[in-house]
Amino acid sequence: MPDPSKSKKKAVVVGAGLVGALWTVFLARRGYQVDLYERRSDMRAAGYAGGRSINLAMSVRGWAAIDKAGIREKIEKVAIAMPGRMMHSEAGELSYQPYGKADEAIYSVSRGGLNLELLHIAGTFPDVNFSSTTAV
Ligand SMILES: Cc1cc2nc3c(=O)[nH]c(=O)nc-3n(C[C@H](O)[C@H](O)[C@H](O)COP(=O)(O)OP(=O)(O)OC[C@H]3O[C@@H](n4cnc5c(N)ncnc54)[C@H](O)[C@@H]3O)c2cc1C
Repeated sequence: MPDPSKSKKKAVVVGAGLVGALWTVFLARRGYQVDLYERRSDMRAAGYAGGRSINLAMSVRGWAAIDKAGIREKIEKVAIAMPGRMMHSEAGELSYQPYGKADEAIYSVSRGGLNLELLHIAGTFPDVNFSSTTAV
């Protein structure tokens, strides 16, 4: 009987940042066996240093990629909608500036939190192997 793992398409992704982690999800969904290499520790075990990192503002383009990967529902849980900003004048007046149309918003997402969630999703595929060059 043929070994199904031998006929799998294989891919190597170097760097488990936002792009590498998301790309791994795309490849795994398309049936690839993926070897994902990251020079830092695996943040799923080691955590991430969120204290000095500002949140990402995720726009429609970011959501388009998340949608294509079929993981919007999971990422929405870690995103906060920002429909606009409030400006404060020296005289104390407030004025509101929307970022888009009434139903549009950009989304504030923790960079580390998003990266972590993408890695968790990638890890749900049995054919994704994560290798870190740093021992945890
Ligand atoms: C200050 C700042 C603010 C930003 N704000 C926004 C924003 O508001 N909205 C937005 O959409 N984008 C923003 N960006 C851009 C966004 O951060 C990048 O587009 C995104 O992080 C790129 O992802 P990446 O996976 O290519 O790179 P990274 O997230 O940098 O990941 C690269 C990974 O590869 C690993 N690596 C590198 N070399 C090796 C190697 N030789 N072997 C193994 N692993 C390796 C690194 O350790 C790292 O984990 C911002 C960027 C910066 C710097």
